[in-house]
Order: sequence, then structure tokens, then C-alpha cells
Amino acid sequence: MKHPDNKFPEANIHWREGLPVSREFDDVYFSRASGIAETRYVFLQQNRLPERWLENSRETFTIGETGFGTGLNFLTAASLWLQHRSGNTLHFVSAEKFPLSKADLEQSLQLWPELAELGDELLDQYPHAIAGVHRLKLAGGSVLLTLLYGDAAEMFSSLKGSDHPMFSRIGNPVIDAWFLDGFAPAKNPQMWTGELFQAIADLSDSGTTFSTFTAAGVVRRGMLAAGFATRKVEGFGDKREMLCGEMTEAPQKVVDQSQLQPATFNASHQPPWYLLCQPAKPDAAIVIGGGIAGCATARALAERGIRVTLIERHKDLAQEGSGNPQGILYPKLSHKSSPLARFGLAALSNAIRFHRQHLNACGLLVLAEPGSNPDKFSKITQSHPESLVKLIGGETLQVIAGLELACEEALYFPELGWINPADVCESLVSHPAISLLRAEVASIRQNRLRHWHALDAMESVIASAEVMVIACATNTARFSQTAHLPLKAIRGQISTVPETTASSRLKTVICGEGYLAPAVNGHHTLGATYDLNNTDTGLREEDHHSNLRQLAATDPELGEIFSGIDTGRISGRAAVRCTTPDYLPIAGPAPVLESYLEDYALLKKNARSHIPLLGRHWQGLYLNCGHGSRGMSYAPLCAELVASQICAEVPPMELDLRKVIHPGRFIIRDLKRNKI
Ligand code: SAM
Repeated sequence: MKHPDNKFPEANIHWREGLPVSREFDDVYFSRASGIAETRYVFLQQNRLPERWLENSRETFTIGETGFGTGLNFLTAASLWLQHRSGNTLHFVSAEKFPLSKADLEQSLQLWPELAELGDELLDQYPHAIAGVHRLKLAGGSVLLTLLYGDAAEMFSSLKGSDHPMFSRIGNPVIDAWFLDGFAPAKNPQMWTGELFQAIADLSDSGTTFSTFTAAGVVRRGMLAAGFATRKVEGFGDKREMLCGEMTEAPQKVVDQSQLQPATFNASHQPPWYLLCQPAKPDAAIVIGGGIAGCATARALAERGIRVTLIERHKDLAQEGSGNPQGILYPKLSHKSSPLARFGLAALSNAIRFHRQHLNACGLLVLAEPGSNPDKFSKITQSHPESLVKLIGGETLQVIAGLELACEEALYFPELGWINPADVCESLVSHPAISLLRAEVASIRQNRLRHWHALDAMESVIASAEVMVIACATNTARFSQTAHLPLKAIRGQISTVPETTASSRLKTVICGEGYLAPAVNGHHTLGATYDLNNTDTGLREEDHHSNLRQLAATDPELGEIFSGIDTGRISGRAAVRCTTPDYLPIAGPAPVLESYLEDYALLKKNARSHIPLLGRHWQGLYLNCGHGSRGMSYAPLCAELVASQICAEVPPMELDLRKVIHPGRFIIRDLKRNKI
């Protein structure tokens, strides 16, 4: 999928007699007299909600919508669900190509005082206009809202398990009811396309229903072709007719052999090595590792009703890579839309919501690194929403920083800052479904019933469960099943520097060559060194000097604030970060190395070989590691992904991003380079 720009066009709205009207489509979002009543009739009643919730209590009920608009349908459905709550979670997945600005959304929601409680939560978490997937948790986590910012057809297709034509029905999440909104086909023919109906077909199953305000032939034919029995019923208000229907027959969830081509070296699709067919949701899981990755994964699973045993070898949580006193939400943005940049942005935007209870949002400044392109900052601000990042200089910069800086301009992120990772981890695991076990896992084994055992050094079983998630950074390499992953250890030392009169004025986090956080309890965190393949965690005086030099290189004025300090008063901490060759994390199912090598051997001869075989993974074994120094932003999104894969739910990111962080990517890369 192409995202030419991270920034996204917001809806061009004008207000007519207190109602939002779209300039693009010259149409109203809803009618004043009957907005909620229309939603109830067209979308809730015709999809038989809440009757279906009451008849058949399932853990998660998933609604898909085209056109989120003002969120009226979402809020109406969610508040009804909260009244009749029969399962664990309502998951509302809605695509929007032109999101309303927050100010327009706020104004629209004022029209519906009865929806104010949930509406305020929505406003509070409303994402920046950034292309891609945004997941929000409302009503204490019992309502999930996944906003897909992009074209409906493209975004719903990106939720599928693969883009291989032979596997189009395999490994996909299932939508239970479709709300086909979006402006009428006559005004918005670009949305109601064959691709949209195909995506709807691929994400539906027998029993999936749909309804839409329109009775247009193009929609009826599209839904018939998608496998739905359709009916015309009386429309709402002065609309004569509308459509609704149901998929009555289960679609064939088998490999489509009609697409089987003879062996060819010019396949248009790469083999679906990343495709996962998850069996039923487990009752229990083991998570190995009590840092941010493990704690966030344990929490994501517990919130889905899974009993979790979290195994940590240290007495306390967050003792290794997550152990610094001030963990920075460090943005690394690019004006180019590479998968690394898009993943980083999605993770950062998710982390702002995820950490909001713990985030010390003092703001964060990024100063230019010496020798960097002078246009870099302006290109970054042009390609990102202003609410996320702006370019500031002169007096504004000094006022925001709280002290004088030599640099003339900086990128300013008002919502970012620092968190205390240990506090975050403690609060994540305080959930009744999570139990903590202090033990060191030496090896893991799958038994005949396909349950995973965590074993200690004496080969005694510490814990067993159907599912296991490895979130123990470089220690992942000690397990024979995952030893092939190319994880790298990087030693990093931070310096804990006593504040001085000059430094106490610092108000924001400053990032450049290194980073400096405002003082807490009289001390700043100054970081960090970067020693590849060094696993020594002893403190070194020379590394404190190196951190101070790095600060002076970031900005000479900053170099002055600790001038003359006795380094004997500086303490600190050294730990090992775990990173990967492409600096992207590793999250998803664990590949079986030998099977990948056997199944995809043809890639050695030609990287574009046609190999219609899905990836063989260790059933029930997943990974969440390799976050480098970005664990605070990367790990929570990866945790949500892994939990959604374990429960066969709508994933929190698009397929192309899932592929670039998939644990199997290194084997495929090495096969294509004939290096394995
Ligand atoms: N469901 C909305 C509500 O509850 O407020 C009202 C939807 S409004 C009538 C139609 C929405 O569809 C607009 O927000 C518009 O931006 C969006 N839209 C139009 N074309 C789209 C497309 N191709 N993909 C996704 N959304 C689209």
C-alpha cells in the first residue's frame, strides 16, 4: 500500500445551521432532526442489534463501518452495547478517508448530549490525522475502536492475513456486522468499488450481516457478488428504501487452486510465508520477560480474558533494557514514507495513548544533529500533523526549553515527554488474570498436546500453557526454537546527574546526539552510550564523560549547564538493549526454521519464485522483542499485535507493517540473497 505522505487530508467541513456539511461531497453527515434515530433504525435495527448480542453471547462482537465521520454511529452502537453488554468486548472498526479535525468533532458531538460520556473519551484519545491504523480503548477497555485512516477498500484489505490471491479467504479476521455508510454512491462513486465489496467478502463469514441507508443498484449488486443475500426494506424518514442482508453460506476457506500457476519465476506475489492460521483462542498463556514488552503483552492477553503467567528472573520488573528511571518517548520521524518510518510513527502515536496515565508530558525538543540536511526539519513538519510536531525557533524555543540554547530552531512535540518504565510495568501487571512467577527460564519445549513448557536449568517445568510469548530481549537466543533470530546486543549507559542552578530551569526533554530529561528529585537522566556487541553492565566513568560530551555536541549551551561538575557525583546505570539488523522489532509467530528453509528453498534460485505455501510456525509460540532503545513506543503496539494474532482478531496495523516486523523475515531475506 502506498502512503505518499504521513500527513493526511482532514475533512473540509462547513457548518450550515449548526450541522457539519462536507465540502468534498456536498452532503450532510446526518440530519439534525433524527441523527440518532436514523442510526438506530438503519444500522442497529437492520443488523438485529442488540437481539444478536443477547441471543448469542460471544466474547467479541466486531462491527465494520465505511466512513467514521463524526462517530455518531459508533457512539450510538457502543452505548447500546454497554447497556446490553453480553460479551467481553465490542470492537468497532471504521475506515475514514477524510477525518474530521478535533475541533469539528468536538462541535459535532455537542449535538448529542446523551452520548457525551463516551464522546468525551473519544475526543480525549482522538488520533492525529496520520494515515494508517489507530486503536483506541474506551469504557475501561470493553469497547475497542480501530480507526482506519485511508480509503475504505484499501484499508479493509490491509487487515487480511495475506495479499496472495490464492489465500484470500485464509487467516482473515471476521466482521460480524457491516455498517455501510459513506456518502451516497451518486455523490461518492470512488468508495463503492468492486475492491470494497471484495474486501467485505473476504472479511465476512456465514451469519455476517450488513445494512446501508442506500438502495442503489451498485451496492445491491456488489453485496450479492460478495456472497450476501440482500433485501430492500423501508427507508428511514422520507427515504423510500434501504438495503440490508446476510451472508448465509460459509465461504470456502480453502486455498483457491484455480489461481495455481505452473511453477514460475515471475510470480506477482511473494509466497505467504508470513500468513498465520491461528487455532481457537487459548485459555492460558505464558509470557517470558518482565520488561515493557512482556508486561504490555501480558496485559493485552489478560484484557482478552486469557490467564497469564508472567515469568521474570529478577526480583523486580523492568530490571534490564526497561530499567532507566526516565524512559523517553523518542520520536524518529522521516519525511519519507518507508515501512520503518511508518511503523515508528504508528507506534509513537499508539504510545501517546497507551502511556497517557503515566506520561510526564513535559514536551520534547529535537535539535538538529551536526551535519544534517538543513531542510530536514521543515520537510518533517510539512509531512506530519502540526498537532504532533512543529518547528519552533527564537524566543518561543527558549521559553519552551526553559533555558538558553545555541541552536536556532528545533522540532517541538508538545505531547511527548518521559515515563518511569518500572511504574508502567507494575501497573500493567496489576490485573486479576496475571500471575507473576520469579524464575529463570533455561529452555522451552512443546509437548505432544502442543502445550508449551517453560523449563529451568534442571529441566523441571516452571509453567505450561497452550500459548507462549517470548519477550526476553537477547535471551531469546537461548531457546533452540528461536536461536536463529539475528538479535544484536547493544550496551547503553545513562548518567544520573545532580541538577545545577542552570539545569534546573530545563522544562522539556531535549534530544539530539543524546538526550537530557528535566530533573526529578534533584537528578537528570542524561543518555546514552551505544556499544554494539558489548554486554557488560558495569558502570564506567569514561561513559559519563562521553554522555556529557554528547550533550555539548547536541548544543554548546547545554554543554555549559553541567560545566565543572564533579563526575564523582554522577551515578548511572548500564544495560543491554536488544536490536535487529533492520532496526525494526520482532513481533508475531515464531517460524520453524527448517520448514521455512525447505518450503521456500526455491527463493535461493530466484527471489520471485511462485511458492503457494503458507508459513509453518511453531503452533502457539510468539515473539515480542528487538525494540532497541525504543521499547516504550514500539513494545505496546507489538503487544497489541501479538494478542490480536493469538485471538484471531482485527490486527492493529496494516499487512505490510506486519510483514516488516514478522519474525520470519530474516530467513526469507537470507534465502533470497542465497546466504543460508
Ligand atoms: N458514519 C458517520 C457518522 O456516524 O457520523 C457518517 C458518515 S458520513 C455520511 C460519510 C463519511 O465517509 C465521511 O466522513 C467521508 O469522509 C467518508 N468517506 C468518503 N469516502 C470514503 C472512502 N473512500 N473511504 C473511507 N471513508 C470515506
